[in-house]
Amino acid sequence: MLNRDPNGIFDITIIGAGPTGLFAAFYAGLREMSTKVVEALPEPGGQLAVLYPEKMIYDVPGHPKILAQDLVRLLVEQCSLFQPEFVYGTRIDTLTRADVAGEQVWRLGTATEAHYSRTVLISAGIGAFAPSKIERPGIIEHEGHGVHYFVKDKRPFRGKRVLIVGGGDTAVDWCLNLKDWAKSITLIHRRDQFRAHESSLAALRASGVPMLTFWELKRVWGEPEVQGATIYENRTGEERDLEVDAVLINIGFKAALGPIESWGLDLADVRHLRVDGFMRTNLEGVYAAGDIAAVEGSEPLNLIVTGFGQAAIAANAAKRAIDPKSRLFPGHSSELKL
Ligand SMILES: Cc1cc2nc3c(=O)[nH]c(=O)nc-3n(C[C@H](O)[C@H](O)[C@H](O)COP(=O)(O)OP(=O)(O)OC[C@H]3O[C@@H](n4cnc5c(N)ncnc54)[C@H](O)[C@@H]3O)c2cc1C
Repeated sequence: MLNRDPNGIFDITIIGAGPTGLFAAFYAGLREMSTKVVEALPEPGGQLAVLYPEKMIYDVPGHPKILAQDLVRLLVEQCSLFQPEFVYGTRIDTLTRADVAGEQVWRLGTATEAHYSRTVLISAGIGAFAPSKIERPGIIEHEGHGVHYFVKDKRPFRGKRVLIVGGGDTAVDWCLNLKDWAKSITLIHRRDQFRAHESSLAALRASGVPMLTFWELKRVWGEPEVQGATIYENRTGEERDLEVDAVLINIGFKAALGPIESWGLDLADVRHLRVDGFMRTNLEGVYAAGDIAAVEGSEPLNLIVTGFGQAAIAANAAKRAIDPKSRLFPGHSSELKL
């Protein structure tokens, strides 16, 4: 719903455009709330867009299987029906109270701007993303020139010799996903134990992709594009030069809540905000849903479908908070004449 507030105050501002935030934007629109979605990344989708856009998801109701990036596209299409305002590439750093034309509202601040809102939904997942990096010569310098942390698009890897670093699901899955696409794949991992699923590992072992355990990345070279990498055996110190065109580093992400920790919210643990059954945090008018939320008396179940349910509860609870005459129950969408 377009915001017609003369002071630019929104009924709800959603922090994070992952699946939870996008579906919350749909429900908020359905409830005729003016809605803004603020996302740190330059695009929507959260973990689906950043970590596994080209993977199939099998546990979204009504979709026997769906590509992660297709689910994001459909979620954006679904909420766009109500024209929420999207603000990308903007990380919210502060959350404070403010008086705007005599109305007490929330002020969501960045270093350069402020957004004002009657209610706030924090659907910030595991926090704003920052991939873990390896601080060795030539690596950071080759970002954008053959050193990657994400695979947003498989095309840059077509016909390339690729070195993949890591031992978790992401590294192993990309070995499998790219093996028939790239010219060659080599996996190095600093230990001989992998955190990846046993079935993915078994598939990788059967695929013939070289898996070098106890090997680490020492240096990346090439001018300006990557032409090779030096790796070393971390027990013996033996070094090897590999001629590669691309290096994909999948050694995890820093997943701290970052600025959110300082907003005065009750934390259930280092990664979760404590909420009640209506997804209310301890701050009035501030809700949390999805991977970031821990419902009191329960345990977080970090799945897309959990976030969808919590998004619906939070948006409807926020509606009732700003309009106490309205019901929590939104009515059935099947009754809408769209
Ligand atoms: C490899 C992998 C495979 C998975 N497969 C499945 C699966 O098959 N099925 C399933 O159900 N789940 C799966 N999951 C889990 C699923 O992706 C998460 O449960 C889901 O993404 C949580 O959605 P969310 O919207 O709560 O958070 P996220 O997807 O993490 O989105 C949060 C967004 O908030 C943004 N943000 C954070 N802080 C700020 C800030 N201060 N200001 C502005 N923006 C901010 C972030 O940039 C991010 O875009 C998988 C996860 C991974 C890593």
